[in-house]
Amino acid sequence: MGKLEHIFPSYAKYDLTLVKGKGSWVWDDQGRKYLDFTCGLAVTSLGHAPERIAEKLKSQIDTLWHVSNLFHHPGQDRVAELLTGNSCADQVFFCNSGAEANEAAIKLARRYHQKVRGENRYEVITFEQSFHGRTLATLTATGQQKVKEGFLPLPQGFVTVPLHDLPALRAAIGPNTAAVMLEMVLAEGGILEVQPDFLNAVVELCREHGLLLIVDEVQTGMGRTGKLFAHQHYGIEPDIFTLAKGIASGFPAGVMLAKGYLREAFSPGAHASTFGGTPLATAAMAATIETMLEDRVPERAAEAGEYLKARLREALAGCSWVKDIRGKGLLIGIECGSPVGDIILAGQSKGLLFVQAGPQVIRLLPNLYVTREEIDQAVGILSDLIHTYAREHGAVAEEAQL
Ligand SMILES: *Cc1c(COP(=O)(O)O)cnc(C)c1O
Repeated sequence: MGKLEHIFPSYAKYDLTLVKGKGSWVWDDQGRKYLDFTCGLAVTSLGHAPERIAEKLKSQIDTLWHVSNLFHHPGQDRVAELLTGNSCADQVFFCNSGAEANEAAIKLARRYHQKVRGENRYEVITFEQSFHGRTLATLTATGQQKVKEGFLPLPQGFVTVPLHDLPALRAAIGPNTAAVMLEMVLAEGGILEVQPDFLNAVVELCREHGLLLIVDEVQTGMGRTGKLFAHQHYGIEPDIFTLAKGIASGFPAGVMLAKGYLREAFSPGAHASTFGGTPLATAAMAATIETMLEDRVPERAAEAGEYLKARLREALAGCSWVKDIRGKGLLIGIECGSPVGDIILAGQSKGLLFVQAGPQVIRLLPNLYVTREEIDQAVGILSDLIHTYAREHGAVAEEAQL
C-alpha cells in the first residue's frame, strides 16, 4: 500500500509526486520537470507561486491571520469592492470552496423566496452533465449520476433537465421553482458551451416566472474563458453567481455574489462560515484580482486561447479520431473517439500534464500567462501522442473535418 495507506482512496491518483512549482512548470520528487496544462484544475491561473501574491501573503502572515466574522477587517472590504466594481453583482458572501459557494447560492435563493417574498419556493432546476460540487445539496444539483451513487436519500428540491432542451425546461417550472442554475461552459461535463439563444431563453423564462438565475462560475470565472466572468461573453446579468477555483491563486477561497435586491435575504444569523474571508484569504484574493485587472489577464487568456485552438486544429487536422476542438479562452476540450486515459499517462512520461473532462475529452487548462513557446511545446507533444495513438488504434486518417 505504501504512502496512501492512511488516506481514503476517494481520488484515483496518478503515480506522480509533485514537490515544486514555478510559473508554467512543476517538478516531481525525482527532479523531473513538467509543463503544467492542468493548473490544479483552473486554480493556479497566474502560474505556480506567483511573486506578487506570495509577497502579499508573506506580509499578511506577519500581520494578522484570522479574525472571526464577528469583527471587521479591511481585506473583505477590498475584495468586495474589487468584485462588485467589476461585475453586475452588488453583494458578496465569503466562503472556502466552490461547493460551499454554490450551497450559499442555493440557500440564498430559497431564503429570498421564503423569507422576503413569503412564497413556498425551493426547487432549483439544473442541467444534465453539469457539475456543482460534492456536498449533499450540490451533488444533488449536479447532473451526473456517478457523484450520487450510495448517498441516498438525496435532499429534496432539485430537478435536472437536458441542456439546450427548452420544452423540458419549461415543463419543469412549477409553483415551487425558485431558481435555475447553470455553468456557462459545462467544464467537468466535457467542455460544453451553452448556446447564446438557449441562455437568452433561460433569462426570459426566469423573468417571466420570477425565478433567480444562478451562474456557477467556479471553473469558468476569474479570466479563464477570456473575460473576467464567463457570463460577460453573453451580455447577461445573473441574479447570483459563484466563484472559487481561480480566485486566490491556490489559497482556498470561494465567493457567492448577488444582486443588491437580494441583500436582506441574508439577514444577521442567516448563513455563516468560520473561515470565510479571513485576512489571509482576502489578501490572496485581492492580490489575484488586482493582478488580473492590471495585467489584462482575461484578454491574455482570450488571445492565448485562440492561438492554442488554432495550433491544435492545424496539428490535428486529418486525424479522424479527434471529433472536436472547442472551448472558450484557456478552457479547451479535445473530444476524441474513445477514452483518453492512456494519452494522459503518455503525456506525463513526455513531460506534459493535462486532464480529462469525461471519458473522451482531453481538457487543457494552462495558466493564463502561458507563452506561445509553451503552447507550441505542448501542442507538439500532444499532437504526436494523439497521432500515434490514432494510428495504433486503427483510426484512419480522413479529410480534415475541423
Ligand atoms: C470544481 C467545481 C465545483 C466544486 O468546487 P470545490 O471547490 O471542489 O468544492 C463546483 N462547480 C464547478 C463548475 C466546478 O468546476
